[in-house]
Amino acid sequence: MRYISTRGAVSDTALSDAIAAGLAPDGGLYVPRELPHLSSSVFDGATTLPEVARRLLAPFFAGDPLADALPELCAQAYAFDAPLRATRDPATFALELFHGPTAAFKDFGARFLAACAARLRGESRTRTVLVATSGDTGAAVAAAFHRRPGFRVVILYPDGLVSPRQAHPLGCFGANVSALRVAGAFDDCQRLVKQAFADAELRRRAPLLSANSISLARLLPQLAYYAHSALMFQRAHGATLSFAVPTGNLGNAFACLLARAVGLPIADVILATNANRTLPDFLDSGEYRGRASVATLANAMDVGDPSNAERLRWLYADRAQLTAAVRADWVDDATIRARIRDGETRYGPAWCPHTACAVEVVERLRRNGDRAHWAVVATAHPAKFDTVVEPLVGHAVPAPPALAEMLARPSHADPLAADCTALRERLLSAS
Ligand SMILES: *Cc1c(COP(=O)(O)O)cnc(C)c1O
Repeated sequence: MRYISTRGAVSDTALSDAIAAGLAPDGGLYVPRELPHLSSSVFDGATTLPEVARRLLAPFFAGDPLADALPELCAQAYAFDAPLRATRDPATFALELFHGPTAAFKDFGARFLAACAARLRGESRTRTVLVATSGDTGAAVAAAFHRRPGFRVVILYPDGLVSPRQAHPLGCFGANVSALRVAGAFDDCQRLVKQAFADAELRRRAPLLSANSISLARLLPQLAYYAHSALMFQRAHGATLSFAVPTGNLGNAFACLLARAVGLPIADVILATNANRTLPDFLDSGEYRGRASVATLANAMDVGDPSNAERLRWLYADRAQLTAAVRADWVDDATIRARIRDGETRYGPAWCPHTACAVEVVERLRRNGDRAHWAVVATAHPAKFDTVVEPLVGHAVPAPPALAEMLARPSHADPLAADCTALRERLLSAS
């Protein structure tokens, strides 16, 4: 399999090179040159997540130096489950993606990326994994690269705009991980990272590795839990599952759409955003307008100009295809609160604010008579957002053990101005 850029000026790149580069040289995002087709028989006899992942990813890795390592990469990335849980509503399920070390779905992609990067590390110089995060990415990437020889991690996050339980883990690793709290919003952090990656002189002196959700090494492994849950559901119930995916930068939801496009038994897909409604507006009007982000309770989705929208426009050639393939709806903070408040009574589990957006869009479909089997994608453990969730559900939500352990450690982050010179100095001073 070879990879091309969404912007068309790059037409023949190996997967490993695409992973090492992050962004394509023409500024576009890497996508497969052609889509493989996986018939259901490819998965005959596969029951576990790592096994489904291995078979699913094989065509994407074919011919690449990483292909032989695929079983090992899958073993490292899928070392914990992504269970599809029944809820009190017989037609609604929760795909729980928060059983990894940092209690959010980003653990899957981050661990896969770290395993790939460790395999590909040719040169002896230390690579800096530079990552902008609105919360969960940074912790997942830090956990995945912590104490890996040959790598250091620099995390940028918007100071004061992520929950204490999201911020604390970013600064608790130490060793090869440093956290910088930026005086700005998530979009500023993302801009700083983009500027650093565009700075050839900086990259020569301090080699960088992209860990944001544009990386194919994060995108591709995310297909696996959709494939696994959809296949297991079909085997158990003889029915096709639909997915409601909380969406910010569109990485996780795009993986779901790509899984369906390569042949997995997935029915409908609906994107759920918070008040950052760029994607629902795009699907309504056909016109893509990125904008500044606004702060919401579901802060890991506070993205006004989702990077992966470019991949969406690549996958669906025209508006008719796009609107036939995917729906989107947005949810305000008051409604996020309402869905968290009544979540346990209606469904059983407590929801994190991001998952609550997906629950709401499914409820809107139900009110219009929809009886499909929906999997609400539970992107983070509710205990990560204790300050929002606990007052609404009226009791403490205990942190899972790995998160509790991180919260018990001391944590430190240095301040950084939202300014590319300041970041440059910081990256060079410690390299
Ligand atoms: C990152 C994140 C999202 C959004 O995922 P994207 O891939 O950026 O669309 C949703 N929920 C949680 C908890 C997250 O951490």
